[in-house]
Amino acid sequence: MLDTGRTARRLESFVQGAWRAGNGEGKPLAHAATGETHALISSDGIDFAAALAWGREVGGAGLRRLTIHERALMLKEIGLRLMDMKDEFHVESLATGATPKDAWPDIDGGIGTMLTFASKARRELPNAKVLTEGPVEGLSRDGSFVAQHILTPLRGVAIHINAFNFPVWGMLEKIAPALIAGMPCIVKPASQTAYVTELVVRRMLQMNILPEGALQLICGGVGDLLDHVTGQDVVTFTGSASTGQKLRTHPAIVANSTRFTMEADSLNAAVLGPDATPDTPEFDLFVKEVAREMTSKAGQKCTAIRRVLVPRDHQDALIAALSERLAKTAIGLPDDKNARMGALASCGDRDDVRAKIAAIAAEASIVFGDPGKVQVISGDADKGAFMSPVLLHCADPMTATAPHEIEAFGPVATIMPYDSIDQAVELAQKGRGSLVSSVFTNDPDIAAQMVLGMACFHGRVMIGNRDSAKTSTGHGSPLAPLVHGGPGRAGGGEEMGGMRGVKHFMQRTAVQGTPRLLSAVTGQWTDGAPARADQHPFRKSLAELRIGDQIVTEAREITEEDVEHFAHFTGDTFYAHMDSDAAKANPFFEDRVAHGYLIASFAAGLFVQPDPGPVLANYGVDNMRFLTPVYFGDSLRVRLTCKDINPRENAVYGEVRWDCRVSNQKDEVVAQYDVLTMVAKTWPVAQA
Ligand code: NDP
Repeated sequence: MLDTGRTARRLESFVQGAWRAGNGEGKPLAHAATGETHALISSDGIDFAAALAWGREVGGAGLRRLTIHERALMLKEIGLRLMDMKDEFHVESLATGATPKDAWPDIDGGIGTMLTFASKARRELPNAKVLTEGPVEGLSRDGSFVAQHILTPLRGVAIHINAFNFPVWGMLEKIAPALIAGMPCIVKPASQTAYVTELVVRRMLQMNILPEGALQLICGGVGDLLDHVTGQDVVTFTGSASTGQKLRTHPAIVANSTRFTMEADSLNAAVLGPDATPDTPEFDLFVKEVAREMTSKAGQKCTAIRRVLVPRDHQDALIAALSERLAKTAIGLPDDKNARMGALASCGDRDDVRAKIAAIAAEASIVFGDPGKVQVISGDADKGAFMSPVLLHCADPMTATAPHEIEAFGPVATIMPYDSIDQAVELAQKGRGSLVSSVFTNDPDIAAQMVLGMACFHGRVMIGNRDSAKTSTGHGSPLAPLVHGGPGRAGGGEEMGGMRGVKHFMQRTAVQGTPRLLSAVTGQWTDGAPARADQHPFRKSLAELRIGDQIVTEAREITEEDVEHFAHFTGDTFYAHMDSDAAKANPFFEDRVAHGYLIASFAAGLFVQPDPGPVLANYGVDNMRFLTPVYFGDSLRVRLTCKDINPRENAVYGEVRWDCRVSNQKDEVVAQYDVLTMVAKTWPVAQA
């Protein structure tokens, strides 16, 4: 049973390196299911300008001293330790009204999201302090003036103002990319459930892994914090559209063009395809998904399905199937194992949802549930914020406005019939921009028409069908590698999306200059920058290898016998290599040509240094292009230059990228690519 009668915990903020209680008694925060005071919150008296300055000066400097991989490894360590502590967070989370199953995406999902960022950053980004983006752009004929986009961390603080419904995930999905980028964070959880966030931050800071000032927490209002933002700070906001609009137009944010990302109300649609008749698996999957989205976290999810679009002929069958399923929802105390749905986060939320249902009902009728009445299997229906799922039906959704405009943030959805695919798309668009929609169909043409019609109004679209029934991550789950956010009324922001999310906290700068000076800035060798050919670079461990280390090989002539041998040996007897007349008829060739892979193989034979040495493995090539045909009698040589060195943390090796150019006797580049290798940090290899 829930621990009633415990003393309300006084929440504190963590600013300028210390836990601080706000002035006064603090505002009471009610337990969602019992109504008792669970915690007290106040940030009165906190010096917000000083917190920002502390973050910028102490936290930013500390993070920027580290490489991206070092920052990611810190998050991995924190994530693994948080996983070990998650039971404590689950107990605290019961006060939010969420059942342990509903708290899973928040707690386990939040920690998992941070771990995914930590892992992807080490796999997809270099172990560096600066990122490069895109190719080097040539700006002059002789190659003496070139340009490259670079990304460096902003020098401000990332202020994350979060919603009440995901006190853990909402924090971790935002701080993970920011900290990896090298930006310190101030987290401001929604007051209603801040006790969960505060507990997690306490545990994170007790680990003493993050540099001082990298993470601060404000429990309570933000006071004059936003008055002090600059163009180097970032503000991310999740919550209501009205608060979001107010903050977006805050004078300091406008005056400084402070980056502001907003994720607000979203009337997400789920569409049952015209092919998904009641006898199909897609129909059953759709019913399950809609019911799950309505009831998980009592519908208090930004991604929950609010609008249910159904072919007109199947609306009655859908209402019947959904009603039958929703009727099985046992509602009760969050720690009651038999409860399928807990409480809303507060009685205020429940009153708000009831008012919103009444407004939607002006253009729709309630076909399941009573907003004013609820049957609970445990707990006190008067004191806890319990409510029944409510299903509405809007007969004429093309002319109605309320079901497309009003977000009842609870276990509420509206069924809307449509008559054609175009109409379904138009109805989905009436949400004026959503975080996510799903389409349930087994027909490829319907999937293409629906998704292409809806995509520009959505940040994510999920296609559900029988083949992914067991593996689908579901309509409602934002995932670390995928974009989360949506246009228009969904706020216009974009979060996560894998390593794109890291770049939201960095400045993209086009740097122009000579190859030599550009290489010094980026730490990557650029064609035209000085090179060194003292010793075969494959003999050098990372201790000696430097960008610009180069080998230019002897030449090798390509003969007809070589091509014949390669063709029959590999089985690649494509006509352009074998048949002179057919090759001449091809607009690209004057005669038979050498295979591209023969050129690449000969190149490897030319540049290799075969003895056992620090080069441990070749793990691929990037951007391979065959640029000029190679005819019999052509003579090829290779220039291989060390372009980029990425030492791995906690490993005896690093990745080395080599610029490889194969040229003919006329100095024309016939093939160009990056060779990817793993090279030992020392030779002989040190024991791990
Ligand atoms: P709010 O917009 O009231 O609050 C969101 C966050 O903003 C909270 O951290 C809140 O802090 C903070 N905040 C409020 N006013 C200010 C201010 N003047 N300056 C700085 N920060 C401020 O949303 P709620 O959390 O109360 O949710 C209300 C509605 O928002 C829901 O019913 C739902 O419709 C929508 N919502 C949408 C979500 C989405 O992801 N799309 C998620 C959650 C809610 P504090 O709590 O201390 O006031």
